[in-house]
Amino acid sequence: MTDTGLPPLPVPFLALMEEVLPPDLRDACLASFSQEKPTSLRLNPLKGDPDETRRELESAGFDPVPVSWYPLAFTVDGERRRALTESPPFREGRIYIQSLSSMTAPLALAPEPGETVLDLAAAPGGKTAMMAAMMENRGRLSAVEAVRGRFFRMKANLDRQGATMVRTYLTDGRSVGRKCPEMFDRVLLDAPCSSEARFTRLNPESWAHWSPRKVEEAARKQRGLIRSALEALRPGGLLLYCTCSFSPEENELIVNDVLRRDGNNLRVCTVDLPLPNRRPGLTRWKGKELHPDLARSVRILPDRLMDGFFLCLIRKLPE
Ligand code: SAM
Repeated sequence: MTDTGLPPLPVPFLALMEEVLPPDLRDACLASFSQEKPTSLRLNPLKGDPDETRRELESAGFDPVPVSWYPLAFTVDGERRRALTESPPFREGRIYIQSLSSMTAPLALAPEPGETVLDLAAAPGGKTAMMAAMMENRGRLSAVEAVRGRFFRMKANLDRQGATMVRTYLTDGRSVGRKCPEMFDRVLLDAPCSSEARFTRLNPESWAHWSPRKVEEAARKQRGLIRSALEALRPGGLLLYCTCSFSPEENELIVNDVLRRDGNNLRVCTVDLPLPNRRPGLTRWKGKELHPDLARSVRILPDRLMDGFFLCLIRKLPE
C-alpha cells in the first residue's frame, strides 16, 4: 500500500478489510482509498425544476454525468467541486452535494407523501432534505440531532433546501422511542459511526481519530439508538439502519442483537436498488453464526464512484 507514495492506511483497519472484503474485489476496493472520487450532487425538486437546473449546470460547463440508478443524481469532475459550491444552483439550494452512498438510504426507506417519518440522527440534514423532497413536503418529518453545532447547521441546510415540512429537535435520539412510542410509519437511523468508509489516503486526517476502541464506543451508542428507533416505529412500519463503516460490530452485529431479542416481531426486507457494487451482509463473523436474515442486508463496496456503506431495512411486523 506504499506504492503510490501516499501514507498507508492503519494496520488494524487493513486487517479488518482483509476479513470483510470479498477476496476477488479486495485489491480494487483498497485501490479506491487512493483515488479522488468525482463530486456527486442531487437535484432538488423542492427548489426549481430539476431539468432546468441540470441545463443550467451544463451551460456553466460542469458537464454533469447521470447516475444510472437515480434520475436526480449526477457526478461532476472532483476538481470542479469548489466552483460548484460557488454556483447559484448550490447557493440557492437547487442542488445538494451528497455522496452517492448517502443517497441510497432514503431510496431504500422510500418515504411517501403524507406519512409520518423520523430521522433519528439527522445532521447535517442531507438525507432529511432528500426525504422531504421524496415526500413533496407533505406529511410529517421529524429530524433529531444531539450535537448543538451540527443541529444549527442542519437547520440552515434544510432551510436552504426548502424542506419546509421538517420539525427539528435538539435531543438524544436514545430518548425518542420512550417519548414517542409506535408513532412513525418509517424511521431512518443513519447512525453515528466510526466513519471508516470516509478514509482516504489523500488525507490522513480522515483516520486521525479512529481506533478499534472507537468502533466499540460507536457500537454501544448504536445499540441504544436502534432500540429507540424500533420503539418509535409503529407496528407494520419500516426502519432503515445504515452506517458508513465497514466493521461488522457497527453493522450486522447491531442488527443481529435486535433480531435475537425480538426476532418474532421483526423481518429484514430486501433492498431493491440496482447497484453494481452491492454484496449481501455477513451471516458469520469471528467464528460466530449471525441471524440468517442478515443476508438480506446490503454492503456497498467502495469503488471509483461510491464510498462503502451498510444498509439494513427492517419491518416491525403488524400485531
Ligand atoms: N443523516 C445525516 C446526513 O445524511 O446528513 C448524517 C448523520 S451522521 C452519520 C450521524 C449524526 O448523529 C451526527 O450528526 C451526530 O452528531 C449525531 N448523533 C450522535 N449521537 C447522537 C444521539 N445520541 N442522538 C442523535 N443524534 C446523534
